[in-house]
Amino acid sequence: MEHFEITHRDAMGRIAKLETPHGVIETPTLMPVINPNVEFISAKEMKKFGASMVITNSYIIYRSPQLRDVAIEKGVHGLLDTDLAVMTDSGSYQLMVYGDVEVNNREIVEFQKTIGSDIAVPLDIPTPPDSVITLAEEDMKTTLEREREAAKLFSNEKSLLALPIQGSTHPELRRKSAEEAVRITEEVGVKAIFPIGAIVPLLDTYRFVDVVRIVLEVKSVLPAWAPVHLFGVGHPMFFAMSVALGCDLFDSAAYALYAKDDRYLTPYGTKKLAEMHYFPCSCSVCSKYTPEEMRRMKKGERARLIAEHNLYVCFEEIKAIKQAIKENTLFELVEKRIRSHPYLVAAWRLLREEKYAKLMELLDAGMKQTFFYTGVESLYRPAVTRHAERVKRVELNGKEFVISTNMLEHADLYLRPAFGVVPAELIEAYPAGHAEMPPAEYIEEEALKVAVRNLLDFLKFHKDKKFRIRAEDVWKPHLNNLPPNATLE
Ligand SMILES: [Zn+2]
Repeated sequence: MEHFEITHRDAMGRIAKLETPHGVIETPTLMPVINPNVEFISAKEMKKFGASMVITNSYIIYRSPQLRDVAIEKGVHGLLDTDLAVMTDSGSYQLMVYGDVEVNNREIVEFQKTIGSDIAVPLDIPTPPDSVITLAEEDMKTTLEREREAAKLFSNEKSLLALPIQGSTHPELRRKSAEEAVRITEEVGVKAIFPIGAIVPLLDTYRFVDVVRIVLEVKSVLPAWAPVHLFGVGHPMFFAMSVALGCDLFDSAAYALYAKDDRYLTPYGTKKLAEMHYFPCSCSVCSKYTPEEMRRMKKGERARLIAEHNLYVCFEEIKAIKQAIKENTLFELVEKRIRSHPYLVAAWRLLREEKYAKLMELLDAGMKQTFFYTGVESLYRPAVTRHAERVKRVELNGKEFVISTNMLEHADLYLRPAFGVVPAELIEAYPAGHAEMPPAEYIEEEALKVAVRNLLDFLKFHKDKKFRIRAEDVWKPHLNNLPPNATLE
């Protein structure tokens, strides 16, 4: 799509240019939430933290006669005094929390258009997790009708329109919601982004597996050109994994909400100021104050400083992710980050399921410089399956071959953890030849099992050839079911 141009890819993640009326935004990025009612960190100041876009709530503006008048006169950018791109939410959140709003879809969408929003949001219905399917489906249909109505108001506009994807925790509804949203953009001709909605209740209860399943289901039907917004996700511990699954936009009220509650964000989780002796960060706040000094401050002053740190750390993580995409090390970064919570590990392990592994293989850019093993999750990378497939079909000239597990020994083929068989001529090539991993006696047993599974596949594929296997002791317990064309020496 012309408003979203992908420039770099790694895993399912991408760096892209998102075109808005207020400039081209490089994604992935985070939109800090600005509450127009509460003076905290202003939209104007957000640039210094690294923001190129902010998000505010058009429903709050609409309901306050004072704010509304200014917004109608000067636009939402004038109201917030910023030249950054501004996305506006519609009141869906209030709908979820209070069950009702005093505006209809058409009114709030037209209002967002009037105040010059860069990305407007229809009044979609966020169905909570675990809702019965009939209710979730009914809500989804209403959401889609409202999206179609909004799209007609935004067709041929420079501004973008968000088409939220709902469907609660029902994968088939999430897929349908995404498919229908794409159909609306095609039929009506509107520049769209695709927020995945109503996942905050899942994050708040650490149901990361459910979040990742929803993201993967949605990504399995969205075309690559579709920018994806993970609505309500503002914790940096979740960014790397979400980007690696193909999410492009995040928004954060968390930086302020957590700060007001004396909670300090890190890419590894949340810390309570009350329990901190040191700040593990060197941003302008953390290098100036100690936790003890901060605790002695007035609450308002302290909240402001923690919020600043929270923003710095969020944008630092976004930059680390973009750097990883450019150097094709996003898998390595995600595998390190998921160590910060067992449920993140569990969520990433969804990639063991065949349909998700295939999706990752389809979307991951193939060639990389390195394969840096960080643990068993490294075995789920497409590089491992691709290597096995490629090597299986390699042409073998001759009748009898030596396979060795010792890289220093002369052999026709080698057996390496994770990858399995590596022909001598490929021992310097990516991925198996470039792989940095612990030696066989120190690596997880699962890495040996995957290698042996690939070996057995290879041996069966070449059943008219003979193989002599020279294995170090650590391999031997795994090599007792060899086919007749292979012998262990
Ligand atoms: Zn800091």
